[in-house]
Amino acid sequence: MKGLFIVMEGPDSSGKTTQINLLKEYLEEAGYECLITREPGGTVIGEEVRQLILNPEHKEMSPVTEMLLYAASRAQLVHEVIGPALEEGKIVISDRFVDSSIVYQGIARKLGISTVSAVNAPGIGIYRPDGIFFIDLSEAEGLRRKKEQKNLDRMEQEGIDFHHMVSEGYRKVLSGRPEVMKIDGGRSIDTIQKKIRNHVDELLKKKNR
Ligand code: ADP
Repeated sequence: MKGLFIVMEGPDSSGKTTQINLLKEYLEEAGYECLITREPGGTVIGEEVRQLILNPEHKEMSPVTEMLLYAASRAQLVHEVIGPALEEGKIVISDRFVDSSIVYQGIARKLGISTVSAVNAPGIGIYRPDGIFFIDLSEAEGLRRKKEQKNLDRMEQEGIDFHHMVSEGYRKVLSGRPEVMKIDGGRSIDTIQKKIRNHVDELLKKKNR
């Protein structure tokens, strides 16, 4: 693949959207074509799946159903958007990718890392991220930010135990991997953005861009 595939990971309210928007600004100013995608969603089919997954009324949804719906949305996003954009040489920045499922469904919903990886593999194919930014936020700060939000979705409405498993799950799943850069989400927006931009510059150099 000719393009560059960047993924932003981290718990709810860790600052992923904020950082992605700033990074897009930076890259476009430098003349790169840049595409932002979000999970679940990002395609017509995926947005319909998103409504199903996140609707707070769907309290009866089983963990397996949830895992399959996330994988379906992701498969469609790779097929329709991420794969073609990378083949055209664009920079793709995805708000969450398969590691979110490994953490949320594999660990927090207890379906197992290997099961979630296997279910997602055919949809992802060859498209593996060149760089993953893991914004690690303390649970206390995450809760503080969440209290300021209204209209929480089905996943955001989960209790403290679930979100604790998510935070710990991220630290476990994303540690010790060469493509992952961990960032302290308690730092200022500017400090975090500087680190991200420096690292993306390096990734672009490696790709001779
Ligand atoms: P996510 O996309 O990970 O859910 P957002 O980017 O939507 O997170 O940020 C959630 C909230 O936290 C927003 O109100 C945002 O302004 C705030 N926020 C983001 N990054 C920081 C930061 N580094 N310090 C303080 N507040 C932040």
